Amino acid sequence: MTRAAVDVVVVGAGLAGLACARELTRQGLDVLVLDAGDAVGGRVRTDQVDGFTLDRGFQVLNTAYPALRGLVDLEALDLRAFDASVGVLVDGERALLGNPLQDLRTAGPTVRVPVGGVTGKAALAAYAGLCLALPASSLRHRVDVSAAEAWRRAHIPAGVVDTLLRPFLAGVLLERDMSSSRRFTDLMFRMFARGRSTVPAGGMQRLPQQIAARLPEGAVRLGTPVHALSPTGVSTDEGAVPARAVVVATDAWAAAGLLPGRIEPPAPRGVTTVYHAAPAFPGATGMLLLDPGPSPVDNTIAISVAAPEYAPAGQVLVSTSLVHGSDHSAVDADGAEVRAVLGRLHRTDTSSWRWVATYDLPRALPGMPAPHPMRRPVRLRDGGDTVYVAGDHRDTSSIQGALVSGRRCARAVLTDLEVSA
Ligand SMILES: Cc1cc2nc3c(=O)[nH]c(=O)nc-3n(C[C@H](O)[C@H](O)[C@H](O)COP(=O)(O)OP(=O)(O)OC[C@H]3O[C@@H](n4cnc5c(N)ncnc54)[C@H](O)[C@@H]3O)c2cc1C
Repeated sequence: MTRAAVDVVVVGAGLAGLACARELTRQGLDVLVLDAGDAVGGRVRTDQVDGFTLDRGFQVLNTAYPALRGLVDLEALDLRAFDASVGVLVDGERALLGNPLQDLRTAGPTVRVPVGGVTGKAALAAYAGLCLALPASSLRHRVDVSAAEAWRRAHIPAGVVDTLLRPFLAGVLLERDMSSSRRFTDLMFRMFARGRSTVPAGGMQRLPQQIAARLPEGAVRLGTPVHALSPTGVSTDEGAVPARAVVVATDAWAAAGLLPGRIEPPAPRGVTTVYHAAPAFPGATGMLLLDPGPSPVDNTIAISVAAPEYAPAGQVLVSTSLVHGSDHSAVDADGAEVRAVLGRLHRTDTSSWRWVATYDLPRALPGMPAPHPMRRPVRLRDGGDTVYVAGDHRDTSSIQGALVSGRRCARAVLTDLEVSA
């Protein structure tokens, strides 16, 4: 059965698709968002299990992301901020650092890093200081190399990289070799210095839910995979949906399937997040704890200390992330090796901890090896035909990247349909 035509069909109700739809509906267009899943959010989903709030993979909302402005009501998300400090295992002992990046903004060369000496700390402070001082547009356009190479050229000592930068950013980039674009990591330095890492009290999915709730009723249809598309419509199990424009706002790999030869599937970055329920223990902290390794664990946090709504009273929810490397399938996320590391990081006996859930996410992020084009086209033309593409793979592999790609895509559609904003 063919459905009545709409102005725009958006395929995918992740952050990119929702941001795109929001912009288009604001301008009065009739938009239908179709998603294969059973809820909005895509990679930003949350489950409720036995009174625990479990994000599908540990992730945080940085309050400094520029794309949130005008789109998201942060106040209404009831955000819970993490402790600004981080803890790092140095020689098997947990060392406490002030937020290394917020320190950089204020404390200059006195950054508290347990390695690197005065000159190393000064080199780090100078590097990060520049990331804060330069306009974002020049960070985006500078000659690109990997983050590891940029730090080497800036004479940041290996000790500082290995003890602090690599473990901290491994959880952001979901890679340990720091081969990602320095354009992106420099911008992230800026975000972590300017904003706070938070989660909504109700879980990360509250973010896409809030955007979706501001769309007209009936604008999102779930459980509706799109199998094929053309510039003038899509086909689903329930029939065709004709449209004046089609936006593909799926993840990169699904987009590559829907638009063969027109989207290059990126190398994926994966992560496994395991959740444990612990009885309340002394010293439990809502601070990110890092193991510079070699270790199967990249970071862990007693997340319910920062966001008490994430666990029932009297219990602590511990979220632990294991970044995928070539050997990740050999690691048992709830095994003895992981629990031993968790014991050292949280300074407690983990034997009574109860496993709650494991999320294995091999395609958590599209990789961004240098050189990374910070903006890929959102308008794909083939002769006179045009389809539009949004998603984090168009910008950067982040909430910011997904939202901004959605907005860019909406503007392209509005221009082409000659809707004046
Ligand atoms: C574990 C993890 C941790 C992360 N940590 C952070 C973090 O701390 N900070 C940060 O900024 N970012 C983080 N990110 C990245 C961020 O979540 C993503 O970049 C962003 O959510 C991507 O949004 P998107 O809309 O581009 O794609 P998606 O969220 O993947 O949305 C695509 C949607 O398309 C739908 N779809 C796919 N195929 C079809 C089809 N054929 N028909 C219909 N629908 C289809 C899917 O169901 C999905 O809902 C993390 C991601 C993960 C997975």
